[in-house]
Amino acid sequence: MKTTAFSLANKTAVITGGASGIGLAIAKRFAAHGAAVEILDLQQVALDTAVGEFRAAGHRAHGESCDVSEPASVDAAFARLLTRHARLHILVNNAGIAHVGNALTTTPDDFARIQRVNVNGVAHCTQAALRHMTARPGGGVILNLASTVAQMAIADRFAYATSKGAVLAMTYSIAKDFLSHGIRCNAILPGVVEGERIRKVIEAKAEIAGKSAAEIQTAWLAHASIKELIQPEQLADVMLLLASPRGRTISGQAISIDGNLQALV
Ligand code: NAD
Repeated sequence: MKTTAFSLANKTAVITGGASGIGLAIAKRFAAHGAAVEILDLQQVALDTAVGEFRAAGHRAHGESCDVSEPASVDAAFARLLTRHARLHILVNNAGIAHVGNALTTTPDDFARIQRVNVNGVAHCTQAALRHMTARPGGGVILNLASTVAQMAIADRFAYATSKGAVLAMTYSIAKDFLSHGIRCNAILPGVVEGERIRKVIEAKAEIAGKSAAEIQTAWLAHASIKELIQPEQLADVMLLLASPRGRTISGQAISIDGNLQALV
């Protein structure tokens, strides 16, 4: 991708949960296209490692220890990172936690915990970014990690599916309310993404079903037209398009990247 249509030069991007997994892949893609990246994450060691690697590769990167579910933690992180940049252009709401359980097996505490991170966390970071973006000319881009579970009934994902449905609704709401400020908002809906997190979800589902993890994965992919796990880098490519000048006419969209998944058991 050599064209400047995908360039993020002179842009600052905040990526929550960017110290590992999908968020790290997105941060790497954005940095490689010229963005200064600000990574917000709970895990201090992973944060320090990621920032060290970005800097060693010649990229502009900082890390902020932050719990997105706590408004005070988010506000403090944004206040600190905004001392380093005159302008914040892009927010990626990626931090999220998984949960396996149906409406009866999910405890009230677990339900609330998932919503606090996956829903309230997106709201807190979006509000912090919007306060900054709407106070200055030039607009901005907000990108959310929803999930295919937001649009499809998937067994044993009660709290998680509820949270990602809310992320989708927030995406539409933000896109509508802030287009007049030049702020675009989109969500991607990944299916089964290769990585440590999905390995744990598959293992938890296997235990519930009394099957092996390999059987669960095969059964999942049987319901996709394209029988491959999604790679984090594929998500990063789509996020780059959405964040870049080439994506300037795309807002209020939910983009599935799931191998044309039809169902999940
Ligand atoms: P992951 O667990 O590998 O990484 C999540 C990152 O978020 C970690 O670095 C973690 O420390 C951080 N984090 C967690 N809670 C946080 C908090 N309260 N405050 C700040 N940081 C926090 O997860 P992943 O697989 O990379 O998933 C990233 C996003 O993509 C999530 O929102 C997830 O729901 C979504 N998603 C993932 C998949 C998948 O198959 N992995 C599918 C669909 C959607």
